[in-house]
Amino acid sequence: MPPTRLQTAGPALGLLRWYDDFGRDLPWRKKGGVRPDPYHVWLSEIMLQQTTVAAVIPYFHKFLGRWPTVTALAAADLDQVLAAWAGLGYYARARNLHKCALAVAALPAARFPETEDELRALPGIGPYTAAAIAAIAFNRHAAVVDGNVERVIARLRRIETPLPAAKPEITAIVSDLTPHDRPGDFAQAMMDLGATICAPRNPDCDACPWSQACMARQAGVQTELPRKAAKTAKPVRRGTAFVLFSKDGRVLLRRRPEKGLLGGMYEPPGTVWGPSFGHVEDAPVKTRFETGGEVRHTFTHFELTLKVEVAFDVPENAPGGVWVRLDELETFALPNVMRKVIERALTVEPPARTARKRG
Ligand code: SF4
Repeated sequence: MPPTRLQTAGPALGLLRWYDDFGRDLPWRKKGGVRPDPYHVWLSEIMLQQTTVAAVIPYFHKFLGRWPTVTALAAADLDQVLAAWAGLGYYARARNLHKCALAVAALPAARFPETEDELRALPGIGPYTAAAIAAIAFNRHAAVVDGNVERVIARLRRIETPLPAAKPEITAIVSDLTPHDRPGDFAQAMMDLGATICAPRNPDCDACPWSQACMARQAGVQTELPRKAAKTAKPVRRGTAFVLFSKDGRVLLRRRPEKGLLGGMYEPPGTVWGPSFGHVEDAPVKTRFETGGEVRHTFTHFELTLKVEVAFDVPENAPGGVWVRLDELETFALPNVMRKVIERALTVEPPARTARKRG
């Protein structure tokens, strides 16, 4: 039975009323006291890490269409999961997703555990995700604090301590505010408030259910909060990617080592990423290369600049990889940075400038 509103009091009540009227309809969400499927909650929370709701929705539908249960996902090949994930970024999530599915499928009745501690013991589930699943899927009292919630609370209580140092204080406030009767709805309401009303640049305070209580608004400093510690510049790595086209327009891909960054994913061959770009002499074939300019990509811990070198009519006995038609690329687990590399290469004209069909 859905809990009554009267069980909750104070700021939580105002926010839950707002959520009942204005909370977003999302494919993994249930409203009106209905519990969502823990598999859907988990899948959405993993996909939403570092990724926007708009980007996640089509992937969420794609995964559920192919693997409607956690058992089905566990039975899939990792390669299939990586290929379906391609384009969503942060690929360690996809590998952990598969590992976690295997771990859950091995539990009695293939049921997700319900407590934060048990959830955190699973692959790829950190403190935030464990709290979110416990609250949203199992209605457990848990302090769910993502970037949106940090911003809302820093403003509501006018917290001047910069992030990340303010995190423990914010978590304690969220824990106090979270009601015991609708913790999952409260968590989602906070996320929605941060995503739709208490926006980073232009908070719509007139539409906010907490406008009367908000200390930052009262002081007129809402757009200055949360304060953030100065960021240090990310280190820069460089490398060269060799995009080799065969006579019939196929492209050579190799598989990255299973462990490490972008582990198990595909890419055109290239040099090691380090302080310098590397040399054309490091290419897997000796041939003429056309310069395709540079591609830049930001990873969590570094910035990458790749030079793109393109060769045409390469014999298909070139070592160490698979020749793939361009219309087959979708079925390969290609990280975004390598999609950018291939797109860049496709803008390069073959030296003879003869019309040719690629793929
Ligand atoms: S009143 Fe404005 S700044 Fe305060 S929580 Fe609401 S939207 Fe955010």
